[in-house]
Amino acid sequence: MTQVKVSELEGKVVGLYFSANWYSPCTKFTNLLVNVYQQLKECSNINLGFEIVFVSSDEDLNAFNTYRSSMPWLAIPFSDLETRRALTQKFDVEGIPCLIVLLPNDDKLDTAVIKDGVELVYRYGVQAFPFTKERLDELRKKEKEKRDNQTLSSLLTHDARDVLSGHPSPKQVSVASLKGKTVGLYFSAQWCNPAKKFTPRLISVYKKIKQQLEGKDDEDFEIVFVSSDHNQVDFTTYFETMPWLAIPFDDPTIKALAKYFDIRGIPSLVILGPDGKTVTKQGRSLINLYKENAYPFTKTRIDILEKQMDEIAKGLPKTENHSGHRHELTLVPEGHGGGAFICCDCDEQGYGWAYQCLECGYEVHPKCVKPVRHDPEN
Ligand SMILES: [Zn+2]
Ligand SMILES: [Zn+2]
Repeated sequence: MTQVKVSELEGKVVGLYFSANWYSPCTKFTNLLVNVYQQLKECSNINLGFEIVFVSSDEDLNAFNTYRSSMPWLAIPFSDLETRRALTQKFDVEGIPCLIVLLPNDDKLDTAVIKDGVELVYRYGVQAFPFTKERLDELRKKEKEKRDNQTLSSLLTHDARDVLSGHPSPKQVSVASLKGKTVGLYFSAQWCNPAKKFTPRLISVYKKIKQQLEGKDDEDFEIVFVSSDHNQVDFTTYFETMPWLAIPFDDPTIKALAKYFDIRGIPSLVILGPDGKTVTKQGRSLINLYKENAYPFTKTRIDILEKQMDEIAKGLPKTENHSGHRHELTLVPEGHGGGAFICCDCDEQGYGWAYQCLECGYEVHPKCVKPVRHDPEN
């Protein structure tokens, strides 16, 4: 094993990477970070000015060695528990993955340490380097401009393509024809397990919304499938089950959209308004909570639905015994369980009102509660 003197890191931008291979958000981020690291190392002017040091929370040396072998950077030796602990404490690391970026030659300590490296790498990739305030301000400004000027065409087309795939194949529909419609971007893939439940639900909701809108010529709704399928065949068979449009398989806009909307997991539904601006990235939760009533997904609409839900909640039992859970569940409003949750009954996202187990954190949608009477005889 090669050893590197700590003094060799002086003057460099150094990322302390707190991570462990037993936790999938870590391994997922590691893949991205390796990619970014390699791109930076290929730029000869950056190569020497940047390094990453892995600070492991792996369970044992074997796990550490396996994980470490996927990383092209340095690591604090696994045996050096004291340093690993000291670093975790010094930088207040509360959760992993965590990337602390230390900037060289900066007197003001608070600006010299960047704590949200994971966020920044997810958001800006290689562009985030060298993580200085100037660079980050510049990126945020560019991003804001891009969002202010966002249109359907800027999102969904590129120089070589201004059409989407329709049915039956090889029908094509121009992106321009979607202008003035509410559009859902559906990030999904056939291999994605949660999508197996959500896609049929979305299809049913889509058809109902289309029905509601029949005969109205001033508004319409459309969905565009943004596929991360592994191959053309999977894409085609999956898309055939969907009654809406799609960006062609493996199109370069797909990765760009996932990054732009910061899609961390699929399925995900981003809603764009008739002006092409983003209405919400919570389309999936809103569909799960309100079905076709969620349309057009605007804040005004959701406020009304939330007020209705608050009214309904007033009439619900404060506590409930749910079939399949041994503790009593308590009705809690939004924010009580940290806002968004995954319903333990239907496995779907939820937020707002929930029945929550105060003992173990088990949580279900109010609509998913299956009440059981406790017979005192038993
Ligand atoms: Zn549920
Ligand atoms: Zn419980």
